[in-house]
Formats: sequence, structure tokens, C-alpha cells
Amino acid sequence: MNLPFTLLIDPVPADSSRSDFADTFHEMDSAAPALRVGELSTQRGDGIFETLSVVNGHPQEVEPHISRLVNSAQICELPVPNPAQWRAAIAHAVARLPHDGELALKFVLSRGVESGPAPTAWLHATRAPDYRSVREQGVRVITLDRGYPRGVAEVAPWLLMGAKTLSYAINMAALREAKRRGADDTIFVTHDGYVMEGPTSSVVIRSGGSYVTPAPSGAILHGTTQQSLFEYLAAAGERVEYRDVPVDELRAADAAWLVSSVRLAVAVTELDGAPVPVDAERTRAFNAYLLGRTA
Ligand code: PLP
Repeated sequence: MNLPFTLLIDPVPADSSRSDFADTFHEMDSAAPALRVGELSTQRGDGIFETLSVVNGHPQEVEPHISRLVNSAQICELPVPNPAQWRAAIAHAVARLPHDGELALKFVLSRGVESGPAPTAWLHATRAPDYRSVREQGVRVITLDRGYPRGVAEVAPWLLMGAKTLSYAINMAALREAKRRGADDTIFVTHDGYVMEGPTSSVVIRSGGSYVTPAPSGAILHGTTQQSLFEYLAAAGERVEYRDVPVDELRAADAAWLVSSVRLAVAVTELDGAPVPVDAERTRAFNAYLLGRTA
């Protein structure tokens, strides 16, 4: 099957007792029109998505991605996805995709067409960018004020902070700001000085002998890669912690990484122009583990 690969999906309700979903999947020519102009995903970014990696034919962390899709749907008051249908859609796609190299498989659930009867869903797979050199060299990062205090998700749930919505314009603007300032990536911090996440990644630091990531309150996404990395570290006898991370602790960290599903683990080499210690050997070990996952 050639890439990109596109599958339109007729979403079935979460409580459906179906076990065969084949008639709800429609393979599309990726170059052909597939969405209607009234789509609220394109008109308003009103939908949610996930991107998982497929490495040598193995889709990574399928269940954590589906769980996060369900969580995002609940936050956004979208019809709750049927996990069995999404599992089947991913398996359907993977069976038709090349079984070599790294692919990015994105799946989307949109509110659908204005006044339309049903949500719209699709899955789209492409070859992943070649991230080998950035995994070796790391990234220069700036911190950017996200403009909200810690605890924002509790006082303003309508901001949908913990949902992976399609509204990524701010996240992309933050990456452009990083480039403008001569850096590669961004770490968002709360207005009162706590580390949040990158625009497309989670933050993990090594501090005081522990691996630490900001507690997944409702204000950030709970990264599937970070969770996987913490399982690996805990199994290796390392201490892992979820807690608030003041930005000064990030600046003083022994090492820091941005981690995400497709780029995997990249070391932060510079923060706001100041060098950050790099543990190249650890970074290589993280990526070897992440690439070696078969589930
Ligand atoms: N935080 C944000 C805002 C993201 O967009 C992403 C991934 O795209 C992540 C964190 C990392 O999540 P994952 O490791 O599941 O890819």
C-alpha cells in the first residue's frame, strides 16, 4: 500500500455491541477530496486527535492513545469514541502499511458538519520525518509564558487544556517564536513560573537523582511517551516522580528531555540561551527502548 494512507471511519457509539467494524471503514485515495466544506474540524478546529508511531509494523502504545482520545472526547463533550472500533481501525491500517521504518499514524474525531447528524472520523498515515539527527544532537529550547496560572484547568475547564484538540495554532505559533529567537523548540510555563509541556511534547527532567515530569493536572496532556519512559525507568530501578516543577528547577536540572510519540526523546541542550547538561548515552538508551517497543 502506498503512503499516505487514508481511512474514513463511520464512528459507532461507545456502547455498541458490534465486534466487526469492517463496513465502517472506507479506504480513500489520499489525494481525493474527503471532507465536506462544512466540517467543524476545519472551520473551527472543533475536534480531537492522536498521533501514534508505527515502527517496523508495530503500532506503539495503542491503548494509552485510545484512552487519551476518550478522555479528550469527554472534556470536549464529543460523542465518546468506541475503543474497539478505534483499535480495529488502527489494526486495519497497520495491516495495509509498509512494515519497515517509522510511520506517523494520526487519527481524528471531529464534531462533524454543522447541523450534521454525526461526528466525522478518519485516520491518516504518512512516513515519519527522519528524526535520527535531532535525537543525536538535541534541541535548543526557549521558555514561553502560556499566560495562565497553575491550576487553570480547575477554574476554567472550558479552556479544554487537558484535551488534545485540533486547535494547534497556538502551539505552532510557539514553535515559530522559538525559531525567531534562534532556538528549535519551546517549553510552556505557567504565568506563575511552573513547567507545563512543549507544544508537541512532554517535559522530563533529571533532578536530585529522580526523573521528574510535571503532574498531569488538567492543564497539560498526559504524554504516552513519558508514561512509557517512566515504566522503563522504574523497571530499571530509577526513581520517577510526578510533581510541580518550578522553572528554576528546570534551569538547574542535571538533564532535560522533550519526549513525544514520533520524534521520541530529544535532549534539551540549551534553555533560554544557557547550556543544559546533556546525557547522550541515556538519550540513546531511551530511544533504543522506545524504538524497540512492540506494543
Ligand atoms: N503535549 C502536547 C501538547 C502534545 O501535542 C504532545 C504530543 O503531540 C505531547 C504532550 C506528548 O504526547 P505523546 O507522548 O503521547 O506523543
